[in-house]
Amino acid sequence: MKASIVSTTAKQFVFDWISQNEKKIVEMNDAIWRFAELGLQEFKTGKLCADTLERNGFKVEREVAGMPSAFVAAYGQGKPVIGIMGELDALPSLSQKALPYKAPFEEGAPGHGCGHNAYATSAVAAGIGVKVALDEGHIEGTVKVFGCPAEETLVGKVFMVRDGCFNGLDACLGNHTGSANGVDLSGGTAMNSFKVEFYGRASHAGASPERGRSALDAAELMNIGVNYLREHIVQEARIHYVVENGGVQPNVVPPYARSWYYVRAPLRETVEQIYQRVLKIAGAADEMAETTHKITFLTGCYQKLNNIALSDLAVRNMREIGAPTYTQEEYAFAKELGKSIPREEKISGLRTSGLPNWEELVDIDICDRIYNPWGDPKSSKGGSTDVSDVMWNIPTIQIRTAGFIVGAPGHSWQNAATMGMSIGHKSVIFGAKTMAGTVLDLLTNPNMLRGVREEFQASTKGFTYRSPLPADLKPPLTQLERRPEKETKE
Ligand SMILES: [Zn+2]
Repeated sequence: MKASIVSTTAKQFVFDWISQNEKKIVEMNDAIWRFAELGLQEFKTGKLCADTLERNGFKVEREVAGMPSAFVAAYGQGKPVIGIMGELDALPSLSQKALPYKAPFEEGAPGHGCGHNAYATSAVAAGIGVKVALDEGHIEGTVKVFGCPAEETLVGKVFMVRDGCFNGLDACLGNHTGSANGVDLSGGTAMNSFKVEFYGRASHAGASPERGRSALDAAELMNIGVNYLREHIVQEARIHYVVENGGVQPNVVPPYARSWYYVRAPLRETVEQIYQRVLKIAGAADEMAETTHKITFLTGCYQKLNNIALSDLAVRNMREIGAPTYTQEEYAFAKELGKSIPREEKISGLRTSGLPNWEELVDIDICDRIYNPWGDPKSSKGGSTDVSDVMWNIPTIQIRTAGFIVGAPGHSWQNAATMGMSIGHKSVIFGAKTMAGTVLDLLTNPNMLRGVREEFQASTKGFTYRSPLPADLKPPLTQLERRPEKETKE
């Protein structure tokens, strides 16, 4: 009883602190939004977050797990230890000003089309908020803020988990902007990401094609083989590829070709099985084209594992705080931006258990569990996240706070637009308060934490986490560069 009284007072104190510091928090959000750095290159973003935490008394360990922008910042003492994740990376080609029509800062430059500027900023703000409560006394425990690079390429957290960065946590949470407020209980697929390089022999394609062996032929034959494989794998599996290098000009038989593949499936084991079959197809392509090849495994991840007890605790905090409301100007901005999204796509973009207002878009105050469009919290379909690998090691949730207009596609310039203005700022502040409140509940109420941990133990009974990454694999610091090739090698 006493614990919850302390918690309620401390929580209000922290919510007020976050409100009072809103201007500074929003400035940080906007700075990161403007940095818009791609995965593993979030040098300014990582530094700004880590420096801010350090200035506020956190003990910061930088460049963790072999990634320059990754950090772990800790404050407090002893148990419980609660983690708050921040994601740092932007997406290629989504540069966008805070305007309701397409207007890039620079054509082709990266932008925050997934809202990770809010993810990072709300984590830092929540962490410092909890620190302020710890300083007031009466509460014991440790809060850790994690700077996680390259979520978009499923790299950061998987490497950080493998290297033990999350060890010792009792629970963990993060705030991903969405088009509703709640806790994301959608599924997320397991995945492998890898590159296939084929090596052939160059020759004059007109005068002496018989002397050439085309690496591009091998890449294409492999893709054909994989496309036939699709019928004989589970329905929910996904295989996608791009050909990153298919030769230079048609009169030279391509001596070098490179594809980048993702294999996804609802279970980690299924990904591993399909991956082995895809590797066989690469070997068979060599046989046909008389080439050789090299596989570079980049990263992999697990399917998601949700925690209902922790989700419901965060939802209770959302309701206690109250969802943000919007001004007439914000509705007008959203409405104008909504004109760029076809109405039929708005309907397929339904992601809430309540009915949003399609025309106006943002005003969703239901604060509830959010399921995927298939409505089944156990089904893993569609996209993947490296949050999953944290989820299988520690009870973890990802809350959603509204900041994207309803029906806006994921990874879009429309999302980048709202993340740099007041609609996005509300996602940051509401996310920071919700996470800080939830962390304080976990620090002050042992029963709540016990419930969360018991559910985790039950769902991982008999399970041993094996990292999808080989023990000696280094983060792909250079292999993910999304730049045109300058030269090829045989
Ligand atoms: Zn994202």
